[in-house]
Amino acid sequence: MNSETPAPSPALVSKMPTVGTTIFTVMSALAAEKGAVNLGQGFPDFGCDPALLQAVSDAMQQGHNQYPPMPGIPALREAMAAKIAALHGRSYRPTDEITITAGATQAIITIILAVVHPGDEVIVLEPCYDSYVPNIELAGGTVVRVPLTPGTFRPDFDKIAAAITPRTRAILINSPHNPSATIWTQQDMLRLQEILQPTKVLLISDEVYEHMVFDGQQHQSAARFAGLAARAFIVSSFGKTYHVTGWKIGTVAAPAALMAEFRKVHQFNVFTVNTPMQHGLDQYMLHPAPYLELPAFYQRKRDLFRTGLAQTRFKLLPSEGSYFQCVDIAAVSNLNEADFCKWLTTEVGVAAIPLSAFYGNAFDQRVVRFCFAKKDETLHTALARLAKL
Ligand code: PMP
Ligand code: GLN
Repeated sequence: MNSETPAPSPALVSKMPTVGTTIFTVMSALAAEKGAVNLGQGFPDFGCDPALLQAVSDAMQQGHNQYPPMPGIPALREAMAAKIAALHGRSYRPTDEITITAGATQAIITIILAVVHPGDEVIVLEPCYDSYVPNIELAGGTVVRVPLTPGTFRPDFDKIAAAITPRTRAILINSPHNPSATIWTQQDMLRLQEILQPTKVLLISDEVYEHMVFDGQQHQSAARFAGLAARAFIVSSFGKTYHVTGWKIGTVAAPAALMAEFRKVHQFNVFTVNTPMQHGLDQYMLHPAPYLELPAFYQRKRDLFRTGLAQTRFKLLPSEGSYFQCVDIAAVSNLNEADFCKWLTTEVGVAAIPLSAFYGNAFDQRVVRFCFAKKDETLHTALARLAKL
């Protein structure tokens, strides 16, 4: 142990002066401290398919432990390309149009750093996932916030069209949507395509919940629309699809010219992504059943959770996709969303996320988000506690 008094570190000028710790980390820490059921941060509390663990373990034992190629192992890129072609009818070349990333989070910041120049405008639709705005700001871009329609969270295309200027570089969309659990219809995608058609605006389509779409609806990937696909970076996450959020592995698909710029940044951002997971996922993807069965798997949990919530004084909002369920708290409490979530975690023993965390101005509409990617017993425990409200 060195007994010297530590020398002071040089003072920093923060690059992100208004940014604190993400709400997901804050609420999970509070849930752990209070022993609450954590329906806040979005992650499954159940394990993944043992066959996937076996495939990754086999890959490690077989010696797949050194750097893979910079864009990811060819076999996994081929498997992704085959999946997109089968589901959405568009072919991406595995060689230069698909890259394996360290989760969707790294994919999104890398896309933004690759395409946004200082002073460029980037449109986000609020409420939005909490990494988008800081990512745009780090790239020196100007964030242009367009609200989704209050109450329904539907895109307002007149507002989107009005927000486009000669300086608009990109628009970020997310369907199925975190936090509102709404999905974009084919009509929505066609309307966006029409609006973007005369422009050079790029599309960043965050599709991490692509396999969690309920009631027989179809996920409308940007890949299905020629005019969108030509300008789109499409982001997926194996973490969401295969119940392994901690593995931090995903993909980006984009036309070659866009992907070339993406890879210039990616190679100096992470260079590449852990090898054994890539080999394991490649083997596991030979079978489409796990992602084809995901809608039914999560729809059953959604319905179980909604049936329970219907017995409480919360007002249920629709949950069309994702693994989230939003509720209106007005009949239950007078607190604002953030205070309500802290109170619910501390006093009732169930953690939730305030929707205000997904807005730049902390807009409060008395709605909070629960995650139902949990064991049935976890959902039952939470529901029993919520029923007392
Ligand atoms: N986008 C959205 C909308 C998300 O909900 C998440 C989940 N954390 C991510 C991106 C990041 O995904 P990943 O864990 O693969 O980085
Ligand atoms: N996407 C997850 C959510 O919305 C959490 C991801 C994270 O913790 N950063 O809850």
